[in-house]
Amino acid sequence: MVQDEYRDMCETYLMRNFGRHMLITHGKGARVWDDEGNEYIDCVAGIAVCSTGHCHPKVSEAICRQAKELIHISNLFYIPGQAELAKRIVEKSGIKGGRVFFSNSGSEAVEAAVKLARVRTGKKRFIAFKSGFHGRTFGALSLTHKEDYRLPFTPLPYDCSFVEYGDIEGLKAVMDDTVAGVILEPVQGEAGVFPAPDGFLEAVRSVCTENDALMIIDEVQTGFGRTGTWFGFQHADIEPDIITMAKGIGSGFPMGAIVAREGLEFLPGEHGGTFNGGPLACAASHATLDVLEEIIGDIERKGQRFRDGLAAHHPRQRGLMIGVTLGDRCAPVKDYCEEHGVLVNCTSGNLRLIPPLVITDEEIDQAVRVINEALDS
Ligand code: PMP
Repeated sequence: MVQDEYRDMCETYLMRNFGRHMLITHGKGARVWDDEGNEYIDCVAGIAVCSTGHCHPKVSEAICRQAKELIHISNLFYIPGQAELAKRIVEKSGIKGGRVFFSNSGSEAVEAAVKLARVRTGKKRFIAFKSGFHGRTFGALSLTHKEDYRLPFTPLPYDCSFVEYGDIEGLKAVMDDTVAGVILEPVQGEAGVFPAPDGFLEAVRSVCTENDALMIIDEVQTGFGRTGTWFGFQHADIEPDIITMAKGIGSGFPMGAIVAREGLEFLPGEHGGTFNGGPLACAASHATLDVLEEIIGDIERKGQRFRDGLAAHHPRQRGLMIGVTLGDRCAPVKDYCEEHGVLVNCTSGNLRLIPPLVITDEEIDQAVRVINEALDS
């Protein structure tokens, strides 16, 4: 728990937009420690970011090595490791002829995707889904459903219609030839882990193709092994036009990216960013991919171990994304878990478990035991 002195300094010098009460000082694998030395199994992973666990030696070493060679140079020059990373990401996406634009966060990836969709289609409208989350910048916020996030900032730049997630007739009803793109998550994460219903992604793909609208899959939370495949859309039989990604891409080093299909790219000068795809981020991401390549085959099994352990509480699960609807019980359940050495997350009245992908079976069993105690109490 945080010392009074540090809390006071935060209260005085930081904007108070984040609600928080703990000071985590270090981490290793799926475990973290607070400033009093208490140990926790981390089922939050920096909000689905610390994919290879905290301070994976390969990732830490890669960042340190790169930090001694070149920290920053800008996209005025070729950047070491950047093209190789783009190649690896395109290959993992399965998008033949795809190209990458790097960003520094998930919102910026979404921002790039909507700008690309606008500029290449020449159309202005978007369609997104209720309870979907795509980020906080003005463009990404235009596509994010939650009124609490949107209303203080209207008018928003993009005209966006919101349809019930899974409702293909609803999508057809608002679709017309003014729509530049349809954006959706393959598993709604911030909503509380709701996987797309069977056949939904395929049906959205058909509606987009029929109407010349781009299908933008937001993989910011679901990408890089989180759902047991490299990208969440790969559970369905589709090829999106644009994929956005971030979070797990660099194990916590800030980075994002989009992959766009062949023929869809920014022209010189149309978009950019000083830090985008910098040497340190590329090094962190290469090391992350090296680790994920070794463990990706085991992620669905680990997720099922969570699901089986929590079966009495009807969890939704895809890979290592697990959600349990709790409503008002969420906060006391989270507090109980925390007091008993397990960090969990509440989102929109749902318990959400998004642990590091390197979490061990023993850690899963220990976390499940505590979470079940909290849910049964
Ligand atoms: N899209 C999705 C699906 C997300 O889950 C998030 C973050 N929770 C974002 C976009 C925004 O990413 P960032 O916070 O890195 O800007």
